Amino acid sequence: MLNIILFGPPGAGKGTQSQQLKEKYNLTYLSTGDILREEMAAETEIGKKVKDIISKGGLVSDEIVVSIIRGRVEANQKSAGFLFDGFPRTVRQAEMLDGIMNEFSLKINAVLSLEVPEEILINRMIERGKTSGRADDNIDSIKHRFVEYNEKTKPVLAYYEKQGNLKGIDGVGKVEDIFATLCNEIDKISKK
Ligand code: AMP
Repeated sequence: MLNIILFGPPGAGKGTQSQQLKEKYNLTYLSTGDILREEMAAETEIGKKVKDIISKGGLVSDEIVVSIIRGRVEANQKSAGFLFDGFPRTVRQAEMLDGIMNEFSLKINAVLSLEVPEEILINRMIERGKTSGRADDNIDSIKHRFVEYNEKTKPVLAYYEKQGNLKGIDGVGKVEDIFATLCNEIDKISKK
């Protein structure tokens, strides 16, 4: 099994790259952002609970996202692997993900971290907001998402660095070039 975390700040291109990666490697794609947006659209209990936090650019509680992930991992144990996008976003989530991986005798093979300077990201997200229809792609929420990222999500990098799983990837450039770099890393890992 090939279990990959695609890591990176908001707007780094995780969603775009994931679409191609999941196809190429036949992975079960788990984007907590997408799942939470589905919950909001379906107006489920979870959806109602997270709506305000998400629209303001805050982070949803660790318990909610971890229980979603646990359910999806449990339901897809026969998969060729998992591609996590936008999860984990706190050190606690990373620790709890290790717990889930242990529970199902799985492990994270690589954490690929897309690196893009913040100025580029903010412009990209303002552009995206013109067509995305996302309630959190407005300037105030975007700013708040970066505060959350810098305070709570960045420390996750050190967590995986310690585990020896972290690989930085230059996320500036053409989508297809970045995709090629990601595939190159994944192919190296899967040969190990
Ligand atoms: P994304 O689509 O990954 O940018 O996520 C959109 C929003 O969903 C984030 O700004 C958070 O409010 C929420 N969210 C997504 N994933 C997580 C997570 N792992 N932990 C907490 N909140 C999350």
